[in-house]
Amino acid sequence: MTNPESRRLANLFLGILHTYAEEIGCDTCFEHLDRYVDLALAGKDAAPVMPLVYRHLARCAACREEYEALLSALKLA
Ligand SMILES: [Zn+2]
Repeated sequence: MTNPESRRLANLFLGILHTYAEEIGCDTCFEHLDRYVDLALAGKDAAPVMPLVYRHLARCAACREEYEALLSALKLA
């Protein structure tokens, strides 16, 4: 496991891990949720615009609930 090729792959893998470690918390997610919901209501795909919020919503049930509540409230308005 010390040849240059496997080291290159290991670095690549660590790079990917680092990218995924760059995540936001519930507070930050909540701060951006308004805009995220606005995009969704405008029929736009919010995920590529705000990938960190998207990723947080994918793994946080509490924020996803908040998002869905906000979405349905604004749909009715
Ligand atoms: Zn959250």
